[in-house]
Formats: sequence, C-alpha cells, structure tokens
Amino acid sequence: TIRLSGRVNRIKPSPTLAVDARAKALKAQGKDVIGLGAGEPDFDTPEHIKEAAIRAIRDGFTKYTAVDGTPGLKQAVIGKFKRDNGLDYTPEEILISVGGKQSFFNLAQALLDNGDEVIIPAPYWVSYPDMVLLADATPVIISAGIDQAFKIRPEQLERRITRNTRLLVINSPSNPTGAVYTRAELAALGEVLRKHPQVLIATDDMYEHILWANEPFSNILNACPDLKDRTIVLNGVSKVYAMTGWRIGYAAGPKPLIAAMKKIQSQSTSNPTSIAQVAAEAALNGDQGCIAPMVRAFKERHDRLVSRLNKIRGVRCLPSEGTFYAFPDFSRAIAATDGVNNDSDMAEYLLNKAEVALVPGSAFGAEGHLRLSYATSMQILDKALDRIEKLLGTT
Ligand code: PLP
Repeated sequence: TIRLSGRVNRIKPSPTLAVDARAKALKAQGKDVIGLGAGEPDFDTPEHIKEAAIRAIRDGFTKYTAVDGTPGLKQAVIGKFKRDNGLDYTPEEILISVGGKQSFFNLAQALLDNGDEVIIPAPYWVSYPDMVLLADATPVIISAGIDQAFKIRPEQLERRITRNTRLLVINSPSNPTGAVYTRAELAALGEVLRKHPQVLIATDDMYEHILWANEPFSNILNACPDLKDRTIVLNGVSKVYAMTGWRIGYAAGPKPLIAAMKKIQSQSTSNPTSIAQVAAEAALNGDQGCIAPMVRAFKERHDRLVSRLNKIRGVRCLPSEGTFYAFPDFSRAIAATDGVNNDSDMAEYLLNKAEVALVPGSAFGAEGHLRLSYATSMQILDKALDRIEKLLGTT
C-alpha cells in the first residue's frame, strides 16, 4: 500500500461535491433522484459574458497572463469594490485566483503555521476547516445554532480568542444558512476585534448580491473602516453571474499579505485561465441587470420552500435573507424515525425512500440539520417537497 501524507489524511473530500456526485451516479443508473446538494445556480452564464470569452479565444488571448491576474480584470475588480462596497484598493492589493476556493486556500497557506488558531463560526462553509487543517493550523469552531439565527454573538467571539488566534472568518450571507449579519452586528464584532490586534479578518462576500434583507449589504469594513489594515475581502464571480465552472475568484487586502498569497499561487496554479479572466472582466464591467432576475427567482423559491418545509412533521426552517440554501432543523423528525439516529442517517433515508439528495448538516458543523439548495426550478423543488412530505408527513 502507498503511504500518504499526514496532511491529506487529516482532511475529507468535500461532502457537498460527494452528495452531488452520488445523486448524479444514481441518476445515471436510471433512478429518478432529485439532487438538491450542489451549490450552483441553475441559470446559464449570461450571453454577453460568454461572448467576451469567445472573442478572447478568437483573438488568441490564450497564453499565460500575470500570475495575479490581468491588469484589465484587476481594474474591473477595483471598480467593483468602489461601486458596490465603497472600498478603495490599488492593483497590488488585489489577487485573482482560480475560484473563491483558491483565494481562501492561498490565504491559509500564506498566513498560518502549526499552532495557529482560526475562528470559524458554525454552521460554516465545508471547506474552511479543512483548508485550515491543510495549512497545519487549528480550526476553532464557535457554534451559532438556530436559536440565535445562526449568527455568533460578540461574547462568544471574545471568549474564544487566544494569543494564538490569527484569523476570524465571516461569511455573510452564509452558506449553508442564508443568515446575514446586519451592519450593527458587524460593528459589535468589530468592537471585540479592536481589542485583539493579532487577529486578522477574512470576510467571504461570495453571496453579497444574492440578498433580500431589509438593509443593503455590509461587510465588516463597511461597519469598521479602521480594520482595513487587517481585513481580507474574498469574493468571486461564481455565484452572482452563474459562472461556477469558469473558476474565477478574487481577494483584496493588505499588500504584504496579497504578495504572499501571490507567491503561493505562483508555485501552484500560476494564473487563472486567461479566457475566464476576460469573461469575469466582462461580468464585472458589464450591465449588472442580469443579477436581479436571478435573485428574484431565488427569493420566490425561498418563500415557497420555507413555508412548505415548516409544514412537514418534525421540520423547522427559519426564513433567510440571502443565498440559495435552506438549512432546516430535522432533529424532531430524526428522533421520530426508526433507524434514523442523526442527520447523515436522515440524508440517507431521504435518498433511499424519497429519492431526494440533501447534504447532512454535520458537514457544516451543525448536527440535526440538512442543507437544501434551491438553485433548481420551482417545479423540481415542489416535486422534491412532495416526496419528503409524503415520507415524513405533515403537521
Ligand atoms: N465561499 C463560499 C461561502 C462558498 O459557498 C463557495 C462555493 O460554494 C466559495 C467560497 C467558493 O466558490 P468558487 O470556488 O466556486 O468560486
């Protein structure tokens, strides 16, 4: 047998990708499985974005670019931060990467050593803890349950900060809960962070535009501009422009940190695909009118899904303010079902008996929940809910 590294043995494959692969495999066998596992919009990439990429191929823009991204895309990102977030950056403070995933990976590799701690509020995006482990550091999980609307409180943060804390990760709107921090809530977290200058902050704004909260989007820098010298903003085009396959994400932050992340990227992937960079530039500079119809559709599905989920026996779902995920609590349904002892069992049960694929909440650090992606048509969603309802019953 081949002896593998301790590093790779510390982590697990992405559970969301695994559920999606399993649903696709069952479908290929002829099973009528409805996959609600994947985290990608069901819309097509808008036409003007595709056209820009096709033009780039025809023009021969098919060679290496600068490791940290083309000047054109960097300018588009700088323009986006100014326009949408009121934030000012220079090109040396921007790094373009192969998806938001690589942005966080580069950050972890550039910042963390053995013994360093990273505070991750749970429920969390599945990749944060594993990417921290890959960097030899220690994830420190703060649980924010359904009773606190999946958002951490300042006292919880204060209690878990130590001398070894290097980074806090904030993801709002959140995958998997759709929870959104208000500007006031971020300001309260900022009060705590001000007392601990050794802690950097990563704000993952990937779902910034997929939002229907009462107030406009804010990240921690909007709430606390004085934290800019230790905050890194992560974002990307994957979700907002239905561009998951193009693999373009970007980061903005202090120059020395961005330079270190660029060094990691220069010795791993080099530049993101030249053509995809042109497409991302067209997305960020082009007409932003393509976003609203997608968000409207997500909101409609959200409303229907939440109301229907709350009628299923043993299921409780909070309305959320963004993303395309619902994160219902199935703990009462789990307790009431023979042979089902936890959320993984429940996911298995729903897959086998209702042919609906969901992701167990424990993958996101929240047992008893399941994550449903509603990036699928209303008709398919209704069909999935009919099946779950039939299996578990209604209240
Ligand atoms: N951040 C969050 C919170 C996400 O949910 C995702 C995708 O699921 C990403 C980052 C990474 O996106 P990508 O690497 O596809 O750009």
